[in-house]
Amino acid sequence: MSFIKKMMTFLVFLILTSNQAEAYVYLAPQRPRIMPEDGRTQYFYLTSQTPVFPDKDTFEGGFYSSFSDDETFALLVDRAMNFWNGIPELSVQLAIGEERKGVIDADDNLFSIGIGKINSVASGLAFPAVDVKDTQRLRDCDIQLGTDIVSIPAFIFVMVHEFGHCLGLGHNHSDPDAIMSYWQPRTVVALSLDDMAGVLSLYPPKSSGNVNNFAPCGSVAAAYRESQADGRFVKGPKQRKAMALQGILLSLPLLWALFHAITSWSFRRRRQSFVR
Ligand SMILES: [Zn+2]
Repeated sequence: MSFIKKMMTFLVFLILTSNQAEAYVYLAPQRPRIMPEDGRTQYFYLTSQTPVFPDKDTFEGGFYSSFSDDETFALLVDRAMNFWNGIPELSVQLAIGEERKGVIDADDNLFSIGIGKINSVASGLAFPAVDVKDTQRLRDCDIQLGTDIVSIPAFIFVMVHEFGHCLGLGHNHSDPDAIMSYWQPRTVVALSLDDMAGVLSLYPPKSSGNVNNFAPCGSVAAAYRESQADGRFVKGPKQRKAMALQGILLSLPLLWALFHAITSWSFRRRRQSFVR
């Protein structure tokens, strides 16, 4: 095979495979995670402040309009938790603690959710704190939300994302569909296969036996099937095809430049041999 043919084959290979390189990312190499006291449920406590939701009376046909701001806050936090809780057989569950005793303080070992002014581009922040004695354990994780809540969908997205950090996930840099990417403008809040694979790896189902950190074969596929069946939308293979197409379209200028270089080179070579 000539050099040019080899290069072209390699390029086609790169284009076809580049978008497959998606992966979940952990918060730290030690893979710290929540280790609830009862081994199963991690409670998060709300602070005394309550955010105001500007679209409370219009969102989903005004479903939340009959609830107080306090109740709406709790309902929406619960809704965000359920994105992660809904992954079948996940060995950890998130829940709201009954007392409203939350404090944004990374030293009190109390998982809290509150609102406050954020001087950053982010609309929410998570403060996962790793235990110094046991670097595999997150002993505290407070979530602080900005005071300016844009809308209920934005609030849900931010909450699901920050819970991902508190579970031990870092940012995903290669899959914009992942909740754990920092690509925020989106209309549908859904976990991606990468998000699910990440938490399933940190919190493998108990049915996988005593093997630590081992999610059984097919865990992600099972979670994906279930999410499709009950109407929760998980970003899956369809989106990846769209991304592959995007990749090819973005590569067109490069391909054109390469094609141009090759044709003018072979043309010059032909001309040279003609002169000789
Ligand atoms: Zn983040």
